[in-house]
Amino acid sequence: MTSEWVCDLRTAVIFGVTGQDGFYLSRLLIGKGYRVFGVSRDPSSYSSLKRREFGVEVLSGDLVQENRVDEILQQSQPDEIYNLAGESSVASSWKDPAKYCLANSVGVGNLLKILSGISTGTKPRYFQAASSEMFGETGETPVDELTPLKPKTPYGASKVFAHTMTGRFRDFLNVHASSGLLFNQESPLRSEKYVTKKICKAAVRIHLQGSGHLSLGNLNAKRDWSFAGDVVEAIWLMLQQDQPDDFVIASGILHSVEQFTEGVFRHLGISDWRRYVSSKEFDLRPTDVIATVGNSSKARKDLGWKSSTSFDELITLLVDAELRLQTTM
Ligand code: GDP
Repeated sequence: MTSEWVCDLRTAVIFGVTGQDGFYLSRLLIGKGYRVFGVSRDPSSYSSLKRREFGVEVLSGDLVQENRVDEILQQSQPDEIYNLAGESSVASSWKDPAKYCLANSVGVGNLLKILSGISTGTKPRYFQAASSEMFGETGETPVDELTPLKPKTPYGASKVFAHTMTGRFRDFLNVHASSGLLFNQESPLRSEKYVTKKICKAAVRIHLQGSGHLSLGNLNAKRDWSFAGDVVEAIWLMLQQDQPDDFVIASGILHSVEQFTEGVFRHLGISDWRRYVSSKEFDLRPTDVIATVGNSSKARKDLGWKSSTSFDELITLLVDAELRLQTTM
Protein backbone atom coordinates (compact mmCIF):
# COMPACT_ATOMS: atom_id res chain seq x y z
CA MET A 1 0.00 0.00 0.00
CA THR A 2 1.64 3.28 -1.06
CA SER A 3 1.45 6.38 1.11
CA GLU A 4 -0.17 8.19 -1.82
CA TRP A 5 -2.97 5.63 -1.80
CA VAL A 6 -3.42 6.02 1.96
CA CYS A 7 -3.86 9.79 1.49
CA ASP A 8 -6.53 9.17 -1.14
CA LEU A 9 -8.48 6.71 0.96
CA ARG A 10 -11.70 8.34 2.05
CA THR A 11 -13.74 7.28 5.03
CA ALA A 12 -17.50 7.24 5.17
CA VAL A 13 -19.94 6.56 7.97
CA ILE A 14 -23.37 5.23 7.04
CA PHE A 15 -26.04 5.52 9.69
CA GLY A 16 -28.72 2.94 8.91
CA VAL A 17 -26.43 0.50 7.10
CA THR A 18 -28.75 -2.50 7.53
CA GLY A 19 -31.51 -1.06 5.36
CA GLN A 20 -32.00 -1.40 1.63
CA ASP A 21 -30.24 1.86 0.73
CA GLY A 22 -27.50 1.11 3.28
CA PHE A 23 -26.74 -2.08 1.37
CA TYR A 24 -26.54 -0.41 -2.06
CA LEU A 25 -24.60 2.59 -0.78
CA SER A 26 -22.04 0.53 1.14
CA ARG A 27 -21.51 -1.64 -1.94
CA LEU A 28 -20.99 1.48 -4.06
CA LEU A 29 -18.55 3.11 -1.61
CA ILE A 30 -16.49 -0.04 -1.01
CA GLY A 31 -16.30 -0.40 -4.81
CA LYS A 32 -14.88 3.13 -4.97
CA GLY A 33 -12.21 2.27 -2.41
CA TYR A 34 -13.72 3.93 0.65
CA ARG A 35 -13.24 2.73 4.18
CA VAL A 36 -16.84 2.32 5.33
CA PHE A 37 -18.16 2.29 8.88
CA GLY A 38 -21.76 1.17 9.08
CA VAL A 39 -23.78 2.12 12.13
CA SER A 40 -26.74 0.09 13.24
CA ARG A 41 -28.95 0.03 16.31
CA ASP A 42 -28.59 -3.74 16.16
CA PRO A 43 -25.24 -4.86 14.65
CA SER A 44 -26.17 -8.53 15.06
CA SER A 45 -28.89 -7.97 12.47
CA TYR A 46 -26.12 -6.90 10.06
CA SER A 47 -24.25 -10.20 10.36
CA SER A 48 -27.49 -12.10 9.86
CA LEU A 49 -27.83 -10.27 6.53
CA LYS A 50 -24.63 -12.02 5.37
CA ARG A 51 -23.05 -8.85 3.98
CA ARG A 52 -19.70 -9.22 5.71
CA GLU A 53 -17.92 -9.84 2.43
CA PHE A 54 -18.24 -6.16 1.64
CA GLY A 55 -15.73 -5.21 4.31
CA VAL A 56 -18.00 -2.74 6.11
CA GLU A 57 -16.90 -2.15 9.70
CA VAL A 58 -20.11 -2.34 11.70
CA LEU A 59 -20.58 -0.27 14.85
CA SER A 60 -23.48 -0.16 17.23
CA GLY A 61 -25.17 3.19 17.70
CA ASP A 62 -28.35 5.16 17.60
CA LEU A 63 -28.64 8.79 16.47
CA VAL A 64 -30.74 9.51 19.52
CA GLN A 65 -27.70 8.83 21.78
CA GLU A 66 -25.71 12.00 21.27
CA ASN A 67 -22.61 10.83 23.20
CA ARG A 68 -22.41 7.61 21.23
CA VAL A 69 -22.68 9.49 17.94
CA ASP A 70 -19.88 11.78 19.06
CA GLU A 71 -17.74 8.73 19.94
CA ILE A 72 -18.37 7.13 16.54
CA LEU A 73 -17.29 10.28 14.72
CA GLN A 74 -14.17 10.62 16.89
CA GLN A 75 -13.26 7.00 16.23
CA SER A 76 -13.91 6.99 12.49
CA GLN A 77 -12.89 10.57 11.53
CA PRO A 78 -15.11 10.42 8.44
CA ASP A 79 -14.89 12.56 5.33
CA GLU A 80 -18.52 11.80 4.51
CA ILE A 81 -21.53 10.95 6.65
CA TYR A 82 -24.66 9.43 5.14
CA ASN A 83 -27.80 9.38 7.24
CA LEU A 84 -30.15 6.68 6.00
CA ALA A 85 -31.27 5.73 9.50
CA GLY A 86 -34.71 6.03 10.97
CA GLU A 87 -38.18 4.63 10.89
CA SER A 88 -39.39 4.23 7.32
CA SER A 89 -42.90 2.84 7.08
CA VAL A 90 -45.48 5.51 6.24
CA ALA A 91 -48.34 3.23 7.27
CA SER A 92 -46.83 2.31 10.66
CA SER A 93 -46.09 5.94 11.53
CA TRP A 94 -49.76 6.43 12.48
CA LYS A 95 -49.42 3.83 15.21
CA ASP A 96 -46.46 5.48 16.97
CA PRO A 97 -45.83 9.08 15.83
CA ALA A 98 -43.51 9.77 18.80
CA LYS A 99 -41.19 6.94 17.76
CA TYR A 100 -40.97 8.46 14.28
CA CYS A 101 -40.29 11.90 15.69
CA LEU A 102 -37.50 10.57 17.92
CA ALA A 103 -35.75 8.50 15.25
CA ASN A 104 -36.26 10.76 12.22
CA SER A 105 -36.17 14.26 13.75
CA VAL A 106 -34.43 14.31 17.14
CA GLY A 107 -31.61 12.05 15.98
CA VAL A 108 -30.83 14.33 13.02
CA GLY A 109 -30.82 17.38 15.29
CA ASN A 110 -28.18 15.64 17.44
CA LEU A 111 -25.99 14.80 14.48
CA LEU A 112 -26.16 18.28 12.93
CA LYS A 113 -25.33 19.87 16.28
CA ILE A 114 -22.23 17.68 16.59
CA LEU A 115 -21.18 18.45 13.01
CA SER A 116 -21.54 22.20 13.50
CA GLY A 117 -19.23 21.98 16.52
CA ILE A 118 -16.32 20.38 14.61
CA SER A 119 -13.78 23.15 14.19
CA THR A 120 -10.51 21.29 13.68
CA GLY A 121 -9.34 18.55 11.32
CA THR A 122 -11.60 17.10 8.63
CA LYS A 123 -15.03 18.69 8.48
CA PRO A 124 -17.24 15.86 7.27
CA ARG A 125 -19.80 16.35 4.54
CA TYR A 126 -23.31 15.28 5.48
CA PHE A 127 -26.14 13.65 3.54
CA GLN A 128 -29.70 13.57 4.85
CA ALA A 129 -32.22 11.12 3.36
CA ALA A 130 -35.39 13.17 3.01
CA SER A 131 -38.56 11.85 1.44
CA SER A 132 -41.24 12.59 -1.16
CA GLU A 133 -43.74 12.01 1.67
CA MET A 134 -42.82 15.50 2.88
CA PHE A 135 -44.75 17.04 -0.01
CA GLY A 136 -48.11 15.53 0.96
CA GLU A 137 -50.94 16.69 -1.27
CA THR A 138 -49.29 19.84 -2.61
CA GLY A 139 -51.67 20.34 -5.49
CA GLU A 140 -48.56 20.91 -7.63
CA THR A 141 -47.15 18.41 -10.07
CA PRO A 142 -44.37 17.73 -10.72
CA VAL A 143 -42.76 18.84 -7.46
CA ASP A 144 -39.24 20.18 -7.07
CA GLU A 145 -36.88 21.55 -4.41
CA LEU A 146 -38.91 24.77 -4.07
CA THR A 147 -42.37 23.22 -3.74
CA PRO A 148 -43.97 23.97 -0.34
CA LEU A 149 -44.00 20.98 2.02
CA LYS A 150 -47.40 19.94 3.39
CA PRO A 151 -46.90 16.47 4.88
CA LYS A 152 -50.01 14.39 5.49
CA THR A 153 -48.48 11.68 7.66
CA PRO A 154 -46.44 11.47 10.91
CA TYR A 155 -43.63 9.97 8.84
CA GLY A 156 -43.70 12.90 6.42
CA ALA A 157 -43.79 15.45 9.25
CA SER A 158 -40.82 13.82 11.03
CA LYS A 159 -38.82 14.02 7.79
CA VAL A 160 -39.69 17.70 7.26
CA PHE A 161 -37.98 18.65 10.53
CA ALA A 162 -34.79 16.78 9.54
CA HIS A 163 -34.80 18.21 6.01
CA THR A 164 -35.41 21.76 7.21
CA MET A 165 -32.69 21.57 9.86
CA THR A 166 -30.23 20.18 7.30
CA GLY A 167 -30.82 23.34 5.25
CA ARG A 168 -30.58 25.70 8.23
CA PHE A 169 -27.34 24.16 9.55
CA ARG A 170 -26.00 24.54 6.00
CA ASP A 171 -27.14 28.18 5.69
CA PHE A 172 -26.35 29.49 9.15
CA LEU A 173 -23.71 27.21 10.65
CA ASN A 174 -21.69 26.42 7.58
CA VAL A 175 -22.14 22.65 7.68
CA HIS A 176 -21.60 20.95 4.29
CA ALA A 177 -25.05 19.35 4.49
CA SER A 178 -27.13 18.14 1.56
CA SER A 179 -30.61 16.69 1.54
CA GLY A 180 -32.00 14.25 -1.02
CA LEU A 181 -35.76 14.40 -1.49
CA LEU A 182 -36.01 10.74 -2.39
CA PHE A 183 -39.04 9.33 -4.16
CA ASN A 184 -39.96 5.66 -3.79
CA GLN A 185 -36.88 3.54 -4.35
CA GLU A 186 -37.29 -0.20 -4.70
CA SER A 187 -35.14 -3.34 -4.84
CA PRO A 188 -35.31 -7.04 -4.01
CA LEU A 189 -34.32 -6.03 -0.46
CA ARG A 190 -37.59 -4.22 0.25
CA SER A 191 -39.64 -5.76 3.02
CA GLU A 192 -43.17 -7.00 2.43
CA LYS A 193 -44.53 -3.89 4.12
CA TYR A 194 -43.96 -2.21 0.75
CA VAL A 195 -46.31 -2.84 -2.10
CA THR A 196 -43.70 -3.78 -4.74
CA LYS A 197 -42.27 -6.63 -2.64
CA LYS A 198 -45.74 -7.74 -1.53
CA ILE A 199 -46.90 -8.00 -5.15
CA CYS A 200 -43.75 -9.74 -6.45
CA LYS A 201 -43.73 -12.28 -3.62
CA ALA A 202 -47.39 -13.22 -4.04
CA ALA A 203 -47.28 -13.26 -7.86
CA VAL A 204 -44.22 -15.53 -7.95
CA ARG A 205 -45.89 -17.89 -5.46
CA ILE A 206 -49.00 -17.97 -7.64
CA HIS A 207 -46.83 -18.60 -10.72
CA LEU A 208 -44.98 -21.49 -9.05
CA GLN A 209 -48.01 -23.08 -7.36
CA GLY A 210 -50.68 -22.33 -9.98
CA SER A 211 -53.01 -20.88 -7.34
CA GLY A 212 -53.19 -18.32 -4.56
CA HIS A 213 -54.48 -14.86 -3.83
CA LEU A 214 -53.16 -11.31 -3.47
CA SER A 215 -55.14 -8.79 -1.44
CA LEU A 216 -54.14 -5.17 -2.09
CA GLY A 217 -55.32 -1.72 -1.05
CA ASN A 218 -55.84 1.10 -3.51
CA LEU A 219 -54.91 -0.08 -7.02
CA ASN A 220 -55.27 3.46 -8.37
CA ALA A 221 -52.58 4.91 -6.06
CA LYS A 222 -49.65 6.12 -8.16
CA ARG A 223 -46.00 6.30 -7.29
CA ASP A 224 -42.79 7.60 -8.87
CA TRP A 225 -40.67 4.44 -8.53
CA SER A 226 -36.91 4.17 -9.09
CA PHE A 227 -34.34 1.44 -8.50
CA ALA A 228 -32.51 1.88 -5.17
CA GLY A 229 -29.19 1.13 -6.88
CA ASP A 230 -29.66 4.23 -9.08
CA VAL A 231 -30.70 6.40 -6.15
CA VAL A 232 -27.55 5.75 -4.11
CA GLU A 233 -25.47 7.01 -7.06
CA ALA A 234 -27.25 10.35 -6.69
CA ILE A 235 -26.69 10.31 -2.94
CA TRP A 236 -22.95 9.83 -3.41
CA LEU A 237 -22.78 12.50 -6.12
CA MET A 238 -24.36 15.06 -3.77
CA LEU A 239 -21.42 14.82 -1.38
CA GLN A 240 -18.91 15.22 -4.22
CA GLN A 241 -20.16 18.77 -4.93
CA ASP A 242 -18.31 21.80 -3.59
CA GLN A 243 -21.63 23.41 -2.70
CA PRO A 244 -24.10 21.45 -0.56
CA ASP A 245 -27.74 21.70 -1.62
CA ASP A 246 -31.15 19.99 -1.80
CA PHE A 247 -31.98 17.66 -4.69
CA VAL A 248 -35.14 15.87 -5.77
CA ILE A 249 -34.26 12.31 -6.79
CA ALA A 250 -37.04 10.71 -8.83
CA SER A 251 -37.76 8.90 -12.07
CA GLY A 252 -40.17 11.66 -13.10
CA ILE A 253 -42.77 9.10 -14.23
CA LEU A 254 -45.88 7.98 -12.37
CA HIS A 255 -47.24 4.44 -12.48
CA SER A 256 -50.22 3.03 -10.63
CA VAL A 257 -50.21 0.04 -8.31
CA GLU A 258 -52.45 -1.59 -10.92
CA GLN A 259 -49.87 -1.03 -13.68
CA PHE A 260 -47.17 -2.47 -11.46
CA THR A 261 -49.30 -5.52 -10.63
CA GLU A 262 -50.22 -6.10 -14.26
CA GLY A 263 -46.52 -5.77 -15.28
CA VAL A 264 -45.38 -8.30 -12.67
CA PHE A 265 -47.96 -10.91 -13.68
CA ARG A 266 -47.24 -10.26 -17.37
CA HIS A 267 -43.52 -10.89 -16.79
CA LEU A 268 -44.51 -14.23 -15.25
CA GLY A 269 -46.65 -15.10 -18.29
CA ILE A 270 -50.00 -14.59 -16.50
CA SER A 271 -52.38 -12.34 -18.45
CA ASP A 272 -55.58 -12.86 -16.42
CA TRP A 273 -54.05 -11.40 -13.25
CA ARG A 274 -57.39 -10.03 -11.98
CA ARG A 275 -58.42 -13.61 -11.15
CA TYR A 276 -55.83 -13.64 -8.39
CA VAL A 277 -56.02 -10.06 -7.07
CA SER A 278 -58.57 -8.23 -4.95
CA SER A 279 -58.56 -4.65 -3.73
CA LYS A 280 -59.96 -3.64 -0.38
CA GLU A 281 -60.08 -0.45 1.67
CA PHE A 282 -56.56 0.11 2.97
CA ASP A 283 -57.48 0.63 6.59
CA LEU A 284 -54.00 1.36 7.95
CA ARG A 285 -53.78 4.77 6.30
CA PRO A 286 -56.17 7.54 7.31
CA THR A 287 -54.69 9.53 4.43
CA ASP A 288 -52.65 8.43 1.48
CA VAL A 289 -50.81 10.58 -1.00
CA ILE A 290 -52.41 9.34 -4.20
CA ALA A 291 -49.93 10.70 -6.77
CA THR A 292 -46.83 12.89 -6.62
CA VAL A 293 -44.24 12.97 -9.35
CA GLY A 294 -40.76 14.40 -8.86
CA ASN A 295 -38.86 16.79 -11.10
CA SER A 296 -35.16 15.90 -10.97
CA SER A 297 -33.94 18.53 -13.46
CA LYS A 298 -31.62 20.05 -10.87
CA ALA A 299 -30.01 16.66 -10.12
CA ARG A 300 -29.65 16.03 -13.85
CA LYS A 301 -28.05 19.40 -14.44
CA ASP A 302 -25.84 19.78 -11.33
CA LEU A 303 -25.03 16.15 -10.54
CA GLY A 304 -25.27 14.64 -14.02
CA TRP A 305 -27.62 12.02 -12.52
CA LYS A 306 -30.61 10.27 -14.01
CA SER A 307 -32.73 7.32 -13.04
CA SER A 308 -31.34 4.78 -15.49
CA THR A 309 -33.50 1.73 -14.73
CA SER A 310 -36.89 1.98 -16.50
CA PHE A 311 -40.18 0.86 -14.94
CA ASP A 312 -40.20 -2.34 -17.04
CA GLU A 313 -36.56 -3.05 -16.20
CA LEU A 314 -37.32 -2.54 -12.52
CA ILE A 315 -40.17 -5.05 -12.70
CA THR A 316 -37.90 -7.57 -14.46
CA LEU A 317 -35.18 -7.09 -11.85
CA LEU A 318 -37.59 -7.49 -8.91
CA VAL A 319 -39.49 -10.48 -10.30
CA ASP A 320 -36.37 -12.35 -11.40
CA ALA A 321 -34.80 -11.86 -7.96
CA GLU A 322 -37.99 -13.10 -6.29
CA LEU A 323 -38.07 -16.13 -8.61
CA ARG A 324 -34.46 -16.97 -7.66
CA LEU A 325 -35.31 -16.56 -3.99
CA GLN A 326 -38.39 -18.75 -4.04
CA THR A 327 -36.89 -21.49 -6.19
CA THR A 328 -33.75 -21.84 -4.04
CA MET A 329 -35.52 -21.78 -0.66
P1 GDP B 1 -45.00 4.36 0.44
O1 GDP B 1 -45.22 5.24 -0.75
O2 GDP B 1 -43.70 4.65 1.13
O3 GDP B 1 -46.15 4.35 1.36
O4 GDP B 1 -44.77 2.88 -0.15
P2 GDP B 1 -45.72 1.61 -0.20
O5 GDP B 1 -45.03 0.64 -1.10
O6 GDP B 1 -46.05 1.11 1.17
O7 GDP B 1 -47.07 2.11 -0.86
C1 GDP B 1 -47.11 2.63 -2.18
C2 GDP B 1 -48.55 2.89 -2.58
O8 GDP B 1 -49.21 1.63 -2.77
C3 GDP B 1 -49.40 3.62 -1.52
O9 GDP B 1 -50.19 4.58 -2.17
C4 GDP B 1 -50.30 2.53 -0.93
O10 GDP B 1 -51.54 3.01 -0.44
C5 GDP B 1 -50.50 1.67 -2.17
N1 GDP B 1 -50.92 0.31 -1.85
C6 GDP B 1 -51.99 -0.35 -2.40
N2 GDP B 1 -52.11 -1.57 -1.87
C7 GDP B 1 -51.11 -1.71 -0.97
C8 GDP B 1 -50.73 -2.78 -0.10
O11 GDP B 1 -51.35 -3.83 -0.05
N3 GDP B 1 -49.61 -2.57 0.66
C9 GDP B 1 -48.91 -1.38 0.63
N4 GDP B 1 -47.81 -1.24 1.40
N5 GDP B 1 -49.26 -0.35 -0.17
C10 GDP B 1 -50.35 -0.52 -0.96
